[in-house]
Amino acid sequence: MTTEHPNSWAAEAIRRVRAGRPHLAPTPLRPLPLPAIRDVGIYLKDESAHPTGSMKYRLVRAMFCEAIASGAIRSDTPVIAATSGAVAVAGAHFARLLGLVFTAVVPAKTPADVLARIEGEGGRWQVGEQPPAAVQEEARALAERLGGHFLDHFGDGERAVAGCGEPTIADEIFDQMSGEPHPIPEWIVSGAGTGATSAAIGRHLRRHGHPTRLAVVDPENSAYFPAWVSGCGDYTTGMPSRIPGIGRPRTEPGFLPAVIDLMIPVPDAASIAALRWLRTVAGIEAGPAAGTNFWGMCYLVARMRRAGMRGSVVTIIGDGADPYRNTHLNTEWVRARGLDPAPYEADIELFARTGDWPVG
Ligand SMILES: *Cc1c(COP(=O)(O)O)cnc(C)c1O
Repeated sequence: MTTEHPNSWAAEAIRRVRAGRPHLAPTPLRPLPLPAIRDVGIYLKDESAHPTGSMKYRLVRAMFCEAIASGAIRSDTPVIAATSGAVAVAGAHFARLLGLVFTAVVPAKTPADVLARIEGEGGRWQVGEQPPAAVQEEARALAERLGGHFLDHFGDGERAVAGCGEPTIADEIFDQMSGEPHPIPEWIVSGAGTGATSAAIGRHLRRHGHPTRLAVVDPENSAYFPAWVSGCGDYTTGMPSRIPGIGRPRTEPGFLPAVIDLMIPVPDAASIAALRWLRTVAGIEAGPAAGTNFWGMCYLVARMRRAGMRGSVVTIIGDGADPYRNTHLNTEWVRARGLDPAPYEADIELFARTGDWPVG
């Protein structure tokens, strides 16, 4: 692909990146029937079905398309990301598809199994020398030194998703709901990391005039809930989230508070309780952020029932359980962090059995 005109390389590269998803199929939307809850349909949009196992596949695909179209990624551009998480795995995936070298700058103490996932997609990694909060700047500097492209998911992700012209998660949800008894959901529940997903949903609701409301759940230590409540755009907590993918120590540029109807702060132990319940009772292998979503959704479904409403609610499984076997799914790991999910598990069991929600 290197000897042709750069524009034809770009067109071919974008075509490849777009064709990467299997059969151009949307990720599944799964109903979750609960015996006690007959009047509200519950649906889970399963983003763990993406080839790299996470909804970050969608974000990174949009970022590659935008960077190629704007000339920032060419046939020989090294691509650099600042994370050991799902963005690095997806970044390595798309770089390999295009024959580009990919490097993730990762925080010190990143576990070996996490690094193995980056390597499994053909990516390289190097440990950042600065404290974890400075990994972003280090990756940006590395990209500059190499003449490469820094895949800045917090800075550029939301705009890439909004501008790339691919169907968004919201397009898919409304399309997939169209045959259901209540095709227009009362609520869609999402978390916020970069903010791209909640922004895409909020934009969709306005563009199409849907009465659906958008709820965003937020874990402990995140700046998003206090920023939304106080209207203070530059709120910071300086503390990392313990729920991978969601919650940020500062408000990121892709987070659009104006499109959010309700924010629900969720205790980390409740997210873990929901994660366990989904796994052991519902047989759904989801990551911790799906637990946070599910907790917020239970609260909203109970509120609808109390108000005598019928309808549907949709939430998201952002990634699968596999990466969390030694962490959030491990009882010792959870206890060592002072988290006690047991009381919250009892709340979820009560809700599934009776439809009543004891909290709030
Ligand atoms: C990134 C992520 C989110 C949040 O999505 P954004 O579009 O970045 O706000 C939610 N859940 C999981 C599992 C994620 O990885």
